Amino acid sequence: MKVVVLIPAAGLGTRMGSTVGKPSGPRKPFLLLDGVPILIHTLRKFLSLAEVHSVYVALRPEDTPAFVPYLEAEGFSKRVELVEGGDNRQESVENCLRRVPPDTDLVAVHDAVRPFVEVEAIRRVLEVASRVGAAILGIPAVDTIKQVERVGGDSAVIRATLKREVLVQAQTPQVFRYDVLKRAYEYAVREGFVGTDEASLVEHMGGEVHVVMGSDRNIKITKPGDLEFAVLIRAQEKARAAS
Ligand code: C5P
Repeated sequence: MKVVVLIPAAGLGTRMGSTVGKPSGPRKPFLLLDGVPILIHTLRKFLSLAEVHSVYVALRPEDTPAFVPYLEAEGFSKRVELVEGGDNRQESVENCLRRVPPDTDLVAVHDAVRPFVEVEAIRRVLEVASRVGAAILGIPAVDTIKQVERVGGDSAVIRATLKREVLVQAQTPQVFRYDVLKRAYEYAVREGFVGTDEASLVEHMGGEVHVVMGSDRNIKITKPGDLEFAVLIRAQEKARAAS
């Protein structure tokens, strides 16, 4: 089975606070964790799987020069190709998707800023996707989720309370048979549909996507506090590997 991984890492990272998104500080995927960029930790996870053939990473051109030395120092034996990112996540993934070799079986899309995905969880979602065509990692919602209407500034009014039992938080990797994802992107372009994840594109064309149980350690490093949590999880990961 030939698996190709696409990693969107071309966001502006403006949610991380004052230093990120400005020339003075690195963006989220390039923040150092245990001496290497978060994106390197993410790459290590996927490249350790025998099924993974190559990885395409969408980057902003200005982030590339600082990242390349870290990538070279890893000496990965598989192909890691850097691709120019687009204006939103979907376009960044689309740019990567254009490079995917036609004989690819499965395409896994993974957020650059989720370095703690467990290799075992990647295996599980690959297995389900290869059987059913499309599968993602997800975890049950623990908070009660409200649908709101913004009424200016930071204020919002609740319009509905969603039934928690039927909600999951979508994580990545999101894995698809190559032909399924390709058709979903073609359909989204034709329809002018923009989603916040790849599964929503498959759903939009009427496809079914399965959810495989993820872990709450597979965090998306997004807000400043997440980095402190990330340092903790990384320390635990290292301790586990050493024991
Ligand atoms: O916006 P969101 O947090 O969902 O972005 C998820 C991922 O998509 C991040 O890893 C970010 O770097 C990436 N992204 C991208 N190109 C953009 C915007 C976001 O690759 N133009």
